Amino acid sequence: MRQPSTIFASLGTTIFETMSRLAEQHAAINLGQGFPDEGGPAEVVERAAAFLREGNNQYPPLAGLLSLREAIARHEERCYGLARDPRTEVVVTSGATEALAASLLALVQPGDEVIVFEPLYDSYVPMILRAGGVPVPIRLHAPEFSLDAGELGRKLSDKTRVILVNDPQNPAGKAWMEAELQAVASAALDVDAIVLCDEVYEHLVFDGRRHTPIAALPEMGPRTLKVGSAGKVFSMTGWKVGWVTGPAALCSVVAKAHQYLTFTTPPNLQAGVAWGLDHASGWVDELRRSLEHKRDHFGAGLRAAGAKVLPSGGTYFLNVDLAGTSWAGRDADYCRDLTERRGVAAIPLSAFYVSSPPRDVVRFCFAKRRAVLDAARPRGAHGPQGCCRAPRPGPPPCGPGAVRRGSPREGRWGTGRPRARGWGGAASKASVRRRRTLYGARDAAAHRRAAGRAALAPPAERPRLPRRAGVSAGAAPRGRWS
Ligand code: PMP
Ligand code: GLN
Repeated sequence: MRQPSTIFASLGTTIFETMSRLAEQHAAINLGQGFPDEGGPAEVVERAAAFLREGNNQYPPLAGLLSLREAIARHEERCYGLARDPRTEVVVTSGATEALAASLLALVQPGDEVIVFEPLYDSYVPMILRAGGVPVPIRLHAPEFSLDAGELGRKLSDKTRVILVNDPQNPAGKAWMEAELQAVASAALDVDAIVLCDEVYEHLVFDGRRHTPIAALPEMGPRTLKVGSAGKVFSMTGWKVGWVTGPAALCSVVAKAHQYLTFTTPPNLQAGVAWGLDHASGWVDELRRSLEHKRDHFGAGLRAAGAKVLPSGGTYFLNVDLAGTSWAGRDADYCRDLTERRGVAAIPLSAFYVSSPPRDVVRFCFAKRRAVLDAARPRGAHGPQGCCRAPRPGPPPCGPGAVRRGSPREGRWGTGRPRARGWGGAASKASVRRRRTLYGARDAAAHRRAAGRAALAPPAERPRLPRRAGVSAGAAPRGRWS
């Protein structure tokens, strides 16, 4: 029998899904998958519900409700001075994921090269390949995840059709600097490439900086597609309402790809988003302020525990560099270990590279209520001790200073200060069973030995998850977009 497409058949399940399920399985606090745990503006939900009850339940227009396209055009004009015609230069999609897929299918011809910047969002490469394109990765350099413009120049070719930028960038937590955007713009002009810019975190730029869309740079308007997402603007990631704005010549082809992907997007959600874009700017400003505080608060907790926290100028994410700690294993094992034994889920950054990834950085989502972040943060004056030793290979040294299970010196995090050594205690039957399920019998024994009993937190030390809040109530204050 013929086999399905190897592009998708060869892929695993996304790291977000994998870590969220693992978090569920171990009742861990989920700082892995990026989603806020508080709802968006109540009035946006009310508008969507009312629209649905009024009977607007049939197919809306292919390019989206005109009211939403107009609201998006007003948003682009108000925030960035970008004039877009709602009839020809805006396409509403089912989330930014579909906006990106439709754009890549619309722009890329078989054999075309698409420049991408690592660490990159996970949907880009599969969709470039599905469109017949060739991803050309360029690595951004930690700790700032800076662009080497020289490297960009060297990777350009006469086959470069698209440069795909993500600003602010997930998972790097990077808000691109103007000089870097300029470098991309001049590269695009040099080889006559189109820039596809994923700007879903456009309103989550911190430290007083303002987001500059690459489309607003000189000469870039006619060759840039800008992607947005209501999921990020209004903290409603499940709504999956996204959009593309750009020149009519490109948007019309994106609309053609979109018509055969999802054709359209639920009308009531579109109506809610349309209202929000016009009226909830104050709410969005407040979201940014609150996320910036959360970044600082959570980052301070990590640093106090000895973790090396990388800078984050935007998005929901903070990265921690495991290098220099006694964790000798891979980031993916660290995340698994943290989830299973310490009750906090994170995402290994290696999942965001095309090949030969660095394996010593993990990503935490700080878009959570303070109580959740506090429950998840490292505790005790000696916070990072004890959690993380190399799970494989081979036994770490034993010796004096071993931290016993439940010792007050035991922290939840495995980064930073010198690690406690030692192997005291025997595994519980439940933990042996769990390891068997996860690693298979042989690996489980090795993993248990290597992980070290000393580091296992007693159940009482596992964080308790505060109750989830519902949709936040109250009228949306008007703010700086208004
Ligand atoms: N791009 C980036 C960089 C993202 O982090 C995400 C996930 N939120 C998306 C696109 C997809 O957005 P949406 O949920 O609107 O499809
Ligand atoms: N954007 C989210 C993140 O980076 C996840 C989206 C998804 O699960 N597909 O964590």
